[in-house]
Amino acid sequence: MKEIERFKEHILKEYPRLTKESKFNFSCHKDVPCFNACCADVNIFLTPYDIIRLKKNLGITSTDFLKKYTISPFDKNLNYPVLLLKMADNERKSCQFVSDQGCTVYNDRPWACRMYPLGLASPGKDAGEENEEFYFLLQEDVCKGFREKKEYTVAGWIKDQGIDEYNEFGEYFKDLTTHKFFLDGKKLNPKQIEMFFTTCYNIDTFRRFVFESSFFDKFEVDSEIKDKIKNDDVELLKFGIKWLHFALFSENTMTIKDDVRAASEKKLKEKLAKEGK
Ligand code: SF4
Ligand code: SF4
Repeated sequence: MKEIERFKEHILKEYPRLTKESKFNFSCHKDVPCFNACCADVNIFLTPYDIIRLKKNLGITSTDFLKKYTISPFDKNLNYPVLLLKMADNERKSCQFVSDQGCTVYNDRPWACRMYPLGLASPGKDAGEENEEFYFLLQEDVCKGFREKKEYTVAGWIKDQGIDEYNEFGEYFKDLTTHKFFLDGKKLNPKQIEMFFTTCYNIDTFRRFVFESSFFDKFEVDSEIKDKIKNDDVELLKFGIKWLHFALFSENTMTIKDDVRAASEKKLKEKLAKEGK
C-alpha cells in the first residue's frame, strides 16, 4: 500500500492536470500490439458498485465473489477496508477475467478498467487551493493505444465507457470514505469495520442482516422501500450506505421506532439512576 501512496504523491506533484475538455489520442482494440498486456499484475481497487455488477455478471453470490476474486490488504493506516481484484496464480499474474478475446466481463468491468488510460486524483481537503479533483493520463510504455488516431475529450471518454452510472455510486461511496469522521482522525472499531465491509462489499449478507434480524422492528422503513431492497442490489446498496451514516457517524439517516426509542431512553435513565448520576 505504501507503493500506491508514493505513486499518488507523484501524480499530485508531477502529472499534467486534465479538464473534461482536454483531448487525447487513444484507441484500444484487438489489433493493437499490446492487446491484453494491461490485464495482468495490476492493482484494481473495487468499489461496492463494481462488485454488484460483477457478481451479477457471473451469476454468483457476493460471498463467493469475495472469496474467489478479491483480496483485502490489511494496512493499519487505512480508515476503512478496501478490496483489490485478485490476480490469477500464474507467472503473468493475469486478471482472472482475461481471455484471448479480451475481457470476459467487459459489460460489467470495474470502474478502474473503464477509466483506463484516464485516472482521477483527489488531492484531499488538506491541499488548499489545489484540492479539486482532476483527471490525468496514465501513459504507460506498455500501452500502444496512444499511437492510434482516434481522439477523445475526457468527457467523451467517460461517456463512451459508460462511466457515469459508476460515478453516481462512486459519489455515495465517497461521502462515506471522505466523511468528517475520518478527516478528524477518528477510527472505526473492529465491529464497525465489519459493518462497513459487509454493507459495502457483501450485499447478500447485508440483505440477510436486514431481512432476517430484528432490523425492521427497530427502524421505520416504508413498505415501498422494503419491496425495492428485497431483490434489487443497487437499491439495497443505497439503503446500506444511508444505514452506515446512521450506524457509524450517528447521522439522522434512519428513523428509530418510537417504542424502541422510549425503551432505550428508559434503560439509560435506569442505568444513570443506578450509578447515582
Ligand atoms: S476486469 Fe477485464 S478489463 Fe479489467 S483487468 Fe480484468 S480482464 Fe482486464
Ligand atoms: S495496453 Fe493499452 S492499448 Fe494495449 S490492451 Fe491495454 S489499454 Fe488497450
